[in-house]
Amino acid sequence: MQTKNIAIVGSGLAGSLLAIYLRKRNHHVTVFDRRPDIRKVRFSGRSINLAMSVRGWKALDRVGIGEKIRELAIPLNKRAMHVNGKPEYHQYYGNDGEAIYSISRGVLNRKMITLAEEAGVVFRFNEKVWDVNLVEAKIYTGETEKGAWKEYQYDLIFGCDGAFSRVRHKMQRRSRFDYSQDFLSAGYKELGIPANSDGSHKLDKNSLHIWPRGKFMLIALPNLDGSFTCTLFMPHEGENSFEKLTSDTEVSEFWEQHFPDTIELMPTLLEDFKNNPTSALVTMKCYPWTYWDKVALVGDSAHAIVPFYGQGINAGFEDISVLDDIIEAYKGENWQDIFESYQRTRKPDTDAIAELSYRNFMEMSSKTADPEFLLRKKIEKRFSEKYPDLWVPLYTRVTFSHKPYAEALKLGDQQARIMDEIMQLDNIEDLWGTQEIEDQILNKIKKITIDSKKRITEKYF
Ligand SMILES: Cc1cc2nc3c(=O)[nH]c(=O)nc-3n(C[C@H](O)[C@H](O)[C@H](O)COP(=O)(O)OP(=O)(O)OC[C@H]3O[C@@H](n4cnc5c(N)ncnc54)[C@H](O)[C@@H]3O)c2cc1C
Repeated sequence: MQTKNIAIVGSGLAGSLLAIYLRKRNHHVTVFDRRPDIRKVRFSGRSINLAMSVRGWKALDRVGIGEKIRELAIPLNKRAMHVNGKPEYHQYYGNDGEAIYSISRGVLNRKMITLAEEAGVVFRFNEKVWDVNLVEAKIYTGETEKGAWKEYQYDLIFGCDGAFSRVRHKMQRRSRFDYSQDFLSAGYKELGIPANSDGSHKLDKNSLHIWPRGKFMLIALPNLDGSFTCTLFMPHEGENSFEKLTSDTEVSEFWEQHFPDTIELMPTLLEDFKNNPTSALVTMKCYPWTYWDKVALVGDSAHAIVPFYGQGINAGFEDISVLDDIIEAYKGENWQDIFESYQRTRKPDTDAIAELSYRNFMEMSSKTADPEFLLRKKIEKRFSEKYPDLWVPLYTRVTFSHKPYAEALKLGDQQARIMDEIMQLDNIEDLWGTQEIEDQILNKIKKITIDSKKRITEKYF
């Protein structure tokens, strides 16, 4: 394997993990970031909290840093649902102690940069990349767009510069580059629940807390210091929306009406609401992700998704472990083929998780109170508990499996079609718990299994 001189644009989570992987393969790696070193910047801890699941952990474990990162994470084995008018109830992620992990994006990023530095990666902070010469693998950095730029020449460039990537921007100007960007009608705002005075958590720390309210919802994820980071997801405009909450009185009244049980927990609510920005949520898709044997996009720069499946960086980290498999398969030679294989392999999966994440948003915002939807979920739950091998819930396939996202989407759609038919049956409201319904589902699954055995699916190469 030939050692390459590689630039990574972006020292976020994708950039720092990719840097570690490439260093382990003995390449010279320099990471550029327009921002200062995040380890030297004070942040309140209110940077987004991530739910890390098995795809993310696999990528971290493979490069030997999983254990160090687990020290920064809190396992969540269930959702704690706070529904108005009902006592808090729990939905366990699985019967075998399955858990997702709450981890602060900022804290994780700091650690990953340190681990990358220890592995021999060079970081150049406060250096914004303004332009890229794709053909010659050159990048240009500088203080301002119009000022003097420094030129750097590399063998390979990776764009890990996030959803509004400059590297991708340059690729977009090429002919036949597909690109789409869709903003959600909802945005989000970070809020906080401080720790008790003895440093303990005010709510159960091993739960992802959710206050679902139809078109808007509040969630809370625990931090190691006893606090929780909360996120309010809500439409930008309309009846219950950010545009309607512009004064302390409006926020207080809204909170008393919709989240009364959190008022005691959130003494800094009004301050947080005023001080923290309202941010947008976007799905971004593009293709190709690579340029010859010179440039490749990894993470959000290639596929930004809305956060309703908690998979954004899990997908980004999976890009890296899949890319590493492909580098191995090609023995690190022929980067054009490596890049081609990488983008062909990953694109269907990241499109699938984008679709699943969007659907989850729609489901949460429009269906959670619909009685037909709730009955459907009840039938599925009953069946999957009785036949766990025949009916793996879609959430489990996405969150607790390494099988491709595209497969999860496909199997999820098959299950949805079965349930569409079941829900059409006469008197389903009365029959839902009977043997007859169970047999009907079993027959439909049998038919699909026979049909699909006839087909051969080609994956990876
Ligand atoms: C509200 C919310 C909740 C989320 N929850 C989850 C979750 O539960 N689980 C999950 O897996 N994912 C979640 N995500 C998604 C996750 O945060 C992203 O997928 C992840 O941060 C993307 O990492 P990245 O390294 O690809 O990009 P980024 O984190 O955007 O990093 C890009 C880096 O590139 C740098 N950069 C940009 N432009 C330039 C330039 N021109 N020159 C130099 N440097 C540049 C930036 O300064 C930055 O450091 C969530 C996202 C949001 C918004």
